[in-house]
Amino acid sequence: MGTRNKFDGVNSIKFYNHFTSDEECYQYLSEIKWAGDTFICKKCGNTNYCKGRLPYSRRCNKCKYDESPTSGCMFDKCKFSLLIAFHIAFKISTKKKGMSSLELSQEYELRQKTCWEFKRKIQHAMRSSGRYPLTDTVHVDEFYIGGKEEGIIGRSNKGNKRLVVVALEIVEGGVGRAYAKVIDNASAISMKPFFLTHISVESKVITDEWNGYKPLKKDYPNMEQRPSNKGKGFPELHIHIMNIKGWLRGIHHHCAKEHLQGYLDEYHYRFNRRNNMGTTFDLLMKRMVENVPSHLHRDT
Ligand SMILES: [Zn+2]
Repeated sequence: MGTRNKFDGVNSIKFYNHFTSDEECYQYLSEIKWAGDTFICKKCGNTNYCKGRLPYSRRCNKCKYDESPTSGCMFDKCKFSLLIAFHIAFKISTKKKGMSSLELSQEYELRQKTCWEFKRKIQHAMRSSGRYPLTDTVHVDEFYIGGKEEGIIGRSNKGNKRLVVVALEIVEGGVGRAYAKVIDNASAISMKPFFLTHISVESKVITDEWNGYKPLKKDYPNMEQRPSNKGKGFPELHIHIMNIKGWLRGIHHHCAKEHLQGYLDEYHYRFNRRNNMGTTFDLLMKRMVENVPSHLHRDT
């Protein structure tokens, strides 16, 4: 006991055979939730339980509270079957470009709004933990999403445009991981939390000559500034930015600006695991069980 039967890989036929009923999905979640058979009653803290009323739920021996595997996690109060929720999570985590809520609603015959709400939860679970900052050589730049990009002076958010700061690891023979964050403006104050969360202070950060980066040299002694030459000075980062923009345009025509961060998180969750896609579904499941931000309990 103790080893759970986790799903690895991106093969959809294997996935369809692995999960054929809600029960199998409940079992999967219960093995994450009570890993190593550790049960602690949410109501009274007791650790003895017996089988509960619902599939794979556990009933506290002392206060009789019956807890289901989905209780308190992102699958709680889901408006469709757990099996469909698993299929959606699989598609979004393993398909190279994910799926828009419109595509999901067509494929699973659900309302688009219902799909969108569930997808927001998935995006939230895909948010970086911040525990693995970028290292070595890291290129950083900002870019705009939405609206016209020309003629903006001072690098700040205006109208429909959103300013995004992006950092990309440069490794031998190519690129490593990346992160991006919506920021209010390109001042050092706005960018510093992003830097400290996602870029190791020992790394060699390279930026363009924008003044906003200068104060960050205190935290990043190896920082270097060089001319951008309209992006030509940073070809890998330039391609990365083009890819993000193309993805957003291609399948998410109506990405409201207040939701942009969720899309950036989704994009980078897959991007940072592109050489290891077999792990993305199970990791997403774990995060959806374990990391439940309080504000997500309330919506839907
Ligand atoms: Zn109890």
